[in-house]
Amino acid sequence: TKWVYGFGNGSAEGAADMRNLLGGKGANLAEMSSLGLPVPPGFTITTEVCTYYYDNEKSYPPALADEVAAAMDKVGETTGRKFGDPDRPLLVSVRSGARASMPGMMDTVLNLGLSDGTVEAIARESGDARFAYDSYRRFIQMYSDVVLGVDNHEFEDILEEYKERNDLTLDTEITAEAWQGIIEKFKALVEAELGKPFPQDPQEQLWGAIGAVFSSWMTPRAVTYRRLHDLPASWGTAVNVQAMVFGNMGENSATGVAFTRNPSTGENSLYGEFLVNAQGEDVVAGIRTPQDITEKARVEAGSSNPSLEALMPEAFAEFRSYCTRLERHYKDMQDLEFTIEQGKLWMLQTRAGKRTAKAALKIAVDMVAEGMLEEEEAVFRVEPGALDQLLHPTIDPKAERDILSTGLPASPGAASGAIVFTSDAAEQAKGDGRKVILVRVETSPEDIHGMHAAEGILTSRGGMTSHAAVVARGMGKPCVAGAGGLRIDYRNQVINVGGRQLKEGDIITIDGATGQILAGEVAMLQPTLSGDFGTLMGWADRGRRMTVRTNAETPQDAKVAREFGAEGIGLCRTEHMFFEGDRILAVREMILAETEEGRRAALAKLLPMQRQDFTDLFEIMHGLPVTIRLLDPPLHEFLPKTDEELKDVATAMGADPELLRDRALSLEEFNPMLGHRGCRLLVSYPEIAEMQARAIFEAAVAAAKATGAPVVPEIMVPLVGLKGELDLVRSSIEAMAKAVIEETGAELTYQVGTMVELPRAALKAAEIAESAEFFSFGTNDLTQTTFGISRDDAASFLGTYQTKGILEQDPFVSLDPEGVGELIKIGVERGRSTRPDIKLGICGEHGGDPSSITFCESVDLDYVSCSPYRVPIARLAAAQAAL
Ligand code: ADP
Ligand code: MG
Ligand code: MG
Repeated sequence: TKWVYGFGNGSAEGAADMRNLLGGKGANLAEMSSLGLPVPPGFTITTEVCTYYYDNEKSYPPALADEVAAAMDKVGETTGRKFGDPDRPLLVSVRSGARASMPGMMDTVLNLGLSDGTVEAIARESGDARFAYDSYRRFIQMYSDVVLGVDNHEFEDILEEYKERNDLTLDTEITAEAWQGIIEKFKALVEAELGKPFPQDPQEQLWGAIGAVFSSWMTPRAVTYRRLHDLPASWGTAVNVQAMVFGNMGENSATGVAFTRNPSTGENSLYGEFLVNAQGEDVVAGIRTPQDITEKARVEAGSSNPSLEALMPEAFAEFRSYCTRLERHYKDMQDLEFTIEQGKLWMLQTRAGKRTAKAALKIAVDMVAEGMLEEEEAVFRVEPGALDQLLHPTIDPKAERDILSTGLPASPGAASGAIVFTSDAAEQAKGDGRKVILVRVETSPEDIHGMHAAEGILTSRGGMTSHAAVVARGMGKPCVAGAGGLRIDYRNQVINVGGRQLKEGDIITIDGATGQILAGEVAMLQPTLSGDFGTLMGWADRGRRMTVRTNAETPQDAKVAREFGAEGIGLCRTEHMFFEGDRILAVREMILAETEEGRRAALAKLLPMQRQDFTDLFEIMHGLPVTIRLLDPPLHEFLPKTDEELKDVATAMGADPELLRDRALSLEEFNPMLGHRGCRLLVSYPEIAEMQARAIFEAAVAAAKATGAPVVPEIMVPLVGLKGELDLVRSSIEAMAKAVIEETGAELTYQVGTMVELPRAALKAAEIAESAEFFSFGTNDLTQTTFGISRDDAASFLGTYQTKGILEQDPFVSLDPEGVGELIKIGVERGRSTRPDIKLGICGEHGGDPSSITFCESVDLDYVSCSPYRVPIARLAAAQAAL
């Protein structure tokens, strides 16, 4: 095995496509070198050495020492120097570099090879003692910090003390002699801390740094980062050793960073910062204020500090030409690091630059126009999840954040408003023209009007699929859920949080993208959908196979979803329609009725309302498919809770409130989510299904007449586990269809299918499919029933599962491909075995999650359905999964 790959002087043993072996930084240094760009020579110790190191009790392959020595000699030849030489010493940087850039890895050590002896040689040969000693003190500081574990603050303290005593503000004002004194203090500090002197032997320095890079692969910080980002430990990191070039060699030297295009707007113009007479991370460290690279940026910023373009026009022109070249070569926006040593430009790093969603869109579309990318490639340049940033207001990144607490980022966007504790208060405030945040321990369907009225919703309990989260996402409203740090005291109308107290009317801001809860009003950026958005989405639509539907029950949601490109409704939750206005009363009458007669009387009141709702939806969707789920209320959500509510229902029913209270109590369940809900209710009370089927069919006839577009309703029976359940409900639906056809004389086509949300339904899919023309995988409940984890209670312990590494992701957010996924696969296969043309979709929250969508593509579903604001995300994710 070859363990070391050299680069520099116009050639390289590695290349960009070897990032697995050489890490990102090493692979790109090799590539730039082969392209003939000025890269200081060096070599990369491969990631395989890292793997070997951990497989062999932290030892190196026997051949490594010789390979490193030979590579070092080669660097020496190229530079006309020698590592450790007393006259012309070679100095190097030691840089870590994994496949994916990874915070938590060892920081770079610069100027390695300096010692009490070599620093004099450097001073002599450069004729600049100040530069030599500045470099040496930097080296001692960095090496002690990252390799020897002496805290950098202790060095900074010594430095600060010196500057204060001598009334200096900038490091650049410190003289050579002064640096020498400081260096003595630094060395004394190291010796006092470690009980041995700072290493003077360059070989010892080099191997110390190499070992530190490999060790940093397993630091808790790096391990955590890999877990959060799903990166395997087996990858390992590479080590890059590279000849130093010096940006701190006086006024014609500089160091800087740049993006080939603006990373926040995407504008096609070079963008970056630099510092004269500086080294390494000085630019980002905030010691001095960096200057703009281009004149254009300087003028736009209104800065009087000269640009690089003005100060060093030749080096700048050369740099700009490399930017263009690298961008064309990599076909992507690049993030670059460079140094200018006495007027000569050196390239130190290039990689694909991070960018905002807005910039990603613009860059992808521009690069197609520039002929750099194919449309299909451009589709992959925008991360689907990042589109959220474009569809909702976001907190201005420059704004100050006074964070009160943090909950789950349940629905994206940010909102500010006054605290209210009830939905009625929210509605009233909205009527008065005030903006409010609805703060509840948790929400229930009764809070719909308050959620509509509020700018955002904050709850202290519940997970990512809690009522608050699901409904807020559906409405496109910001929501932070499960903020366990809040103690909400309804009685006194206050919130206690981290020793602070907030009362009704106090202004807060919630950030649904991060889960943060902030004090006061915070500046926001409003979303703007550019033409680039439509262009890219058009390319995505051409590439995808699955269709994208939406989960919607209100005309408002349906309209929004269509604007975002929804191709139908995959889930209309009829029980959500029962909380509008005073309908809840009729629903409660129905639930509390003791007799079929009583129930039918209540249902008769609901029929016209349902018919109108469905007619509206069918008209808005104009011939696109609409799946309507029959009633699926966990009963507890609908029972009257207060005395007043009870009295209202009693009056409406002409019943005795006390008897009604007993009836309500008798309906209470121990475990409502596994109780008398879904098709079980329809089996007990077929008249419910009859009323809903009638409403659907009559609406279909009316909407088809009104729009001229045929309506083929898809009626979905929830929570089926037994074929017999479906058959029974199906027969009431069929009977009702017949009746409506006879009554209206209209033609009527429809489908009956089921929601697969119980493991038994997936297992018995072959049988069930005999009676179902479609399946929709209801993955919220399917996840809950497969894991046996209540989705409303999961927040209190799933977080611990993630930090302890038992679960990588919240399975209610991202579909568990192994367990729940296997059941879906089984359901798909068995369903198709008896009905090859069965229509298959998914309608849980996962229908809008990119990695879950990739899974759906892999099992060949026909469509995904998600909340309106996630429709664009799903379109893009479905395209990426298919292409
Ligand atoms: P990171 O991965 O944190 O960006 P780098 O390895 O890129 O760390 O090093 C950080 C900075 O150190 C570089 O941007 C560059 O300014 C400086 N640097 C690294 N190697 C050299 C070198 N051989 N000569 C001069 N400066 C260097
Ligand atoms: Mg870097
Ligand atoms: Mg369900």
